[in-house]
Amino acid sequence: MKHVIIGTGPAGVLAAETLRKVDPDSGITLIGDEPGVPYSRMAIPYYLQDRIGEEGTHLRTTDDHYKSLKIDLIRARVMKVNPGKNEITLDNGKTIGYDRLLVATGSRAYREEVLEKTGSPRVHACWTLEDARHIAKLAGAGEEVLLVGAGFVACIIMSALARRGAKVTSIVRGQQMVRSMMNPTASAMVKRWWEKEGIRVLTGTTIADAKCDAAGKLEVTFNSGNRMKPNLAVVATGVQPNIEFLEGSGIATDGGILVDEYLRTSIPNIYAAGDVAQGYDFSTGEQSVHIIQPTAVDHGRAAALNMAGRTCKFQGSLLMNVLDTMGLISGSFGRWQGIDGGDSAELIDEDNFRYINLQFDEDRLIGALTLGHTENIGVIRGLIQTKVSLGPWKQKLVEDPSQFMKAYLGSTQAIGHNAGVM
Ligand SMILES: Cc1cc2nc3c(=O)[nH]c(=O)nc-3n(C[C@H](O)[C@H](O)[C@H](O)COP(=O)(O)OP(=O)(O)OC[C@H]3O[C@@H](n4cnc5c(N)ncnc54)[C@H](O)[C@@H]3O)c2cc1C
Repeated sequence: MKHVIIGTGPAGVLAAETLRKVDPDSGITLIGDEPGVPYSRMAIPYYLQDRIGEEGTHLRTTDDHYKSLKIDLIRARVMKVNPGKNEITLDNGKTIGYDRLLVATGSRAYREEVLEKTGSPRVHACWTLEDARHIAKLAGAGEEVLLVGAGFVACIIMSALARRGAKVTSIVRGQQMVRSMMNPTASAMVKRWWEKEGIRVLTGTTIADAKCDAAGKLEVTFNSGNRMKPNLAVVATGVQPNIEFLEGSGIATDGGILVDEYLRTSIPNIYAAGDVAQGYDFSTGEQSVHIIQPTAVDHGRAAALNMAGRTCKFQGSLLMNVLDTMGLISGSFGRWQGIDGGDSAELIDEDNFRYINLQFDEDRLIGALTLGHTENIGVIRGLIQTKVSLGPWKQKLVEDPSQFMKAYLGSTQAIGHNAGVM
């Protein structure tokens, strides 16, 4: 059996290693278009804070890791997939045949057109290790940095830049930051925390104009008419899936590559995993794209098992984001927005930046938001993923949402030992 994997991020690497474990005699080719060895984007913020060197971002640390597993690691860009011939075409013109193919090509950052048009080397995304190298040079202590966007990844980058000592101005088009993982209450608390930590946050702000002055310095004009001359502008306004090379292949796509519970695309011997895949969401039962590493890793493993012929039905990934912005830890889990007809409970401590919001479907926890809580928050994930019936613990949580650990112990012990006896 010949397995070919496109993409050397966490999804692709995990898939290759899993295949080697369960299919020892197969041929495995892993193809990626980025220079250097496979690395984790998640480690970039630590690199930017000088907490690790470049090698700390590498997914595997031994030099001969891939060779020792007989994984043929190729650096090339895949330009075309031809399912009729079961082959792919590389940018060097070569073709490679496969029996089973995995597409794990991830996503890439959106560009900001007005900034981009300046052609300035002071404008960067923060998505690849190469981006991070440029940023590290330009975002020194005391330097003015403009951060465009305020989503999950933007906030991670913002913390890293601020911890380097850069003076960060964060602009966001709407009124709310981290909208994809927070309600307005939590988001307002986060904004207040950042401002307390010295970040300038401009909501309702877009870039009206940008140019390079004679000295090559960037000058940005906002829609308010205010100007700024940052040493660096970092664009983090979201991502799009890397699927263009699949055009004409017949592989069905929507917001990403559509996959079934076996991570299989619309073409039976082609699978997809990670950021590029629109797979089943544990909470909604619908297909959605999750831009998080745990989903990439789960997908990669499940796809590989299926490619090797071990039927592995994927239960769906749980959307879970845990964010550390300047020491304030926030988390969103599952259906944190709640559902029609569901109940909710909320505990707000504005002075101490602590917040819990729980969402229920009847007596099951289906989603949660937390701020300023670090202890036992894994339990929230457990309660959601096990779909445990909370029984009387639901009312106790409505009265005091901070009791989730006790609710977990009470309701799961009831399942294990004393089911029905409360
Ligand atoms: C700064 C930053 C911080 C983050 N922090 C977190 C975090 O705290 N928690 C979290 O869960 N997630 C985080 N993420 C997101 C996480 O990194 C991604 O979800 C994860 O990398 C997805 O893995 P993947 O394998 O699907 O894709 P990727 O890691 O993007 O890997 C895909 C690879 O495929 C390559 N490729 C694309 N097209 C082709 C082609 N045609 N031919 C060959 N190769 C190709 C790409 O260049 C890339 O190397 C962060 C991301 C960034 C940028």
